[in-house]
Amino acid sequence: MDTRTSPIRLRLTQLREVLAHEKVHALLVPSADPHLSEYLPGRWQGREWLSGFTGSMGTLVVTVTEAALFADSRYWEQAEAELAGTGIDLVKIATGTATTFIDWLAGRVPAGETVAVDGQVLGLGLGGQLQRALGAAGVVLRTDLDLLDAIWPDRPALPAQPVYEHLPPMAAQSRADKLASVRDGMARAGATHHFVSTVDDIAWITNLRGSDVTYNPVFLAHLLVEPAGATLFVGDGKIDAALAATLAADGVRLAPYAGAAAALARLGGGDTLLIDPRRVTWGLREKVGTGAAVVEAINPSTLLKSRKTAAEAAFVREAMAEDGAAMCEFYAWFEGALGQERITELTIDEKLSAARARRAGFVGLSFSTIAGFNANGAMPHYRATAESHAVIEGDGLLLIDSGGQYLGGTTDITRVWPIGNVSAAMKRDYTLVLKGTMNLSRARFPRGTLSPMLDSLARFPLWAEGIEFGHGTGHGVGYFLNVHEGPQSISKAVPDAHMAMEPGMITSIEPGVYRPGQWGVRIENLVLNVPAATPEAGAFGDFLEFETLTLCPIDTRCIDRALLRADEIAWLNAYHATVRERLAPRVGGAALAWLTARTQPI
Ligand code: ZN
Ligand code: ZN
Repeated sequence: MDTRTSPIRLRLTQLREVLAHEKVHALLVPSADPHLSEYLPGRWQGREWLSGFTGSMGTLVVTVTEAALFADSRYWEQAEAELAGTGIDLVKIATGTATTFIDWLAGRVPAGETVAVDGQVLGLGLGGQLQRALGAAGVVLRTDLDLLDAIWPDRPALPAQPVYEHLPPMAAQSRADKLASVRDGMARAGATHHFVSTVDDIAWITNLRGSDVTYNPVFLAHLLVEPAGATLFVGDGKIDAALAATLAADGVRLAPYAGAAAALARLGGGDTLLIDPRRVTWGLREKVGTGAAVVEAINPSTLLKSRKTAAEAAFVREAMAEDGAAMCEFYAWFEGALGQERITELTIDEKLSAARARRAGFVGLSFSTIAGFNANGAMPHYRATAESHAVIEGDGLLLIDSGGQYLGGTTDITRVWPIGNVSAAMKRDYTLVLKGTMNLSRARFPRGTLSPMLDSLARFPLWAEGIEFGHGTGHGVGYFLNVHEGPQSISKAVPDAHMAMEPGMITSIEPGVYRPGQWGVRIENLVLNVPAATPEAGAFGDFLEFETLTLCPIDTRCIDRALLRADEIAWLNAYHATVRERLAPRVGGAALAWLTARTQPI
């Protein structure tokens, strides 16, 4: 970046003038919105606007003299490039230590000074940690200021896309049934009221969908479940009269989006409000009427929606077959065109997205396609741009991580393909990652096992060689909802009771190896928790195992066969037989020939 004309330096200068005026020593800008979503509408992409760092996660702190961006290893290469010349330092943090900035602030801001953060985008749990740490250091926390507004002239407005209904049969459980099961959870918590801000929870409870947030079929809203009925706080005009009447029949009233705070303020004596401290903001918690009792616990819907019903699982299998067929069509084109026409990482995104768009039930992508050739594949969150992308030519490994939203499910798959000659070192990495994917895919474990405990099963073959990767092994996946959802997480996260593995959960398995500047390997499938038929049959309680849902060949040309055991080869061959059987009826011509060739036993 040219430091003389950097818009980032100018923005930081303007911000520091505002800090001086408000007598604030430091501003904290989390990557968050009032719904604590992963993908943020433009209006709340203040961290990106102020820092120039475009990664999906990261926390920015600007003090009167310093600026620092906190990001984990997934983003280091990208952040170093994007922050160059801005005057913002990259603070490299370990995965799972996202609150490092709290100690950083508490250690630097002098006692008596003030730290500001917009309470509208500060998670309640995080806000508590921040307040305790700053309080102990004698630093004041202010959450009533939105300091970005003053210096951000073209700040985007709230998204205003229409809301639509997720209809049966794909919406396999009725809105009334879902509200009833949420009320059961409220009753167990002793609550009369329950306030929900997370947009995927609201979409799940109401069987509504939208397109306010890129890649996630959700809409901005808050929901207050009351003793009689529920109130949906949603932007004017987003829900038409017919849909409003349908909702009213199920006891769901509409209210203006901005009305949530006032509704919380009206709660009082005799009311007990259930809120999830990880899923409600500090700003809205502060609005709750002082007479009301508050119970903090996980949203009942977060647990309920993670466990897909048998009917939902059946639709997911169908979506996976459609997605796999799209992959076959794409790869058949790709292998035919390679060396014949110019293919870049961007062409891959275009062609793969077009192949998905031809498939039944397709709605949109579930995240932006990652197509990374060689060194670009070593950046787990790489995204090719018009200004910077690689041409697929020569020798090496091509990593493609992509996914779709279908009316009957959400997909997420990573495959790696050989281009030209693949070195022995590349094959070794590839085979070790495949061993990790298989090792976890074949695991059996007691029902209720805390999902972080499973993480090392995927790392085991890599650790044996002294190799590590810096991201989690697996995330929960929604049902025509967010591609990343909780509460389970196969990662190094500190386990809590809500991360227990239960039947019906869908999770990714995606270990990797990344060699900066050289290549990256990741092999990702989605798996469903199903009861395991163990030899001991219940003597030690219920056991679970994984049904692999993703249907797409795993390249066998990159395998170093000497590194695989006979049982691993048998698993891979059985997987490929299933892939061929399930996908063959859905493809023809070159795609069928490609599927047949790529699913041959080894
Ligand atoms: Zn993925
Ligand atoms: Zn994934």
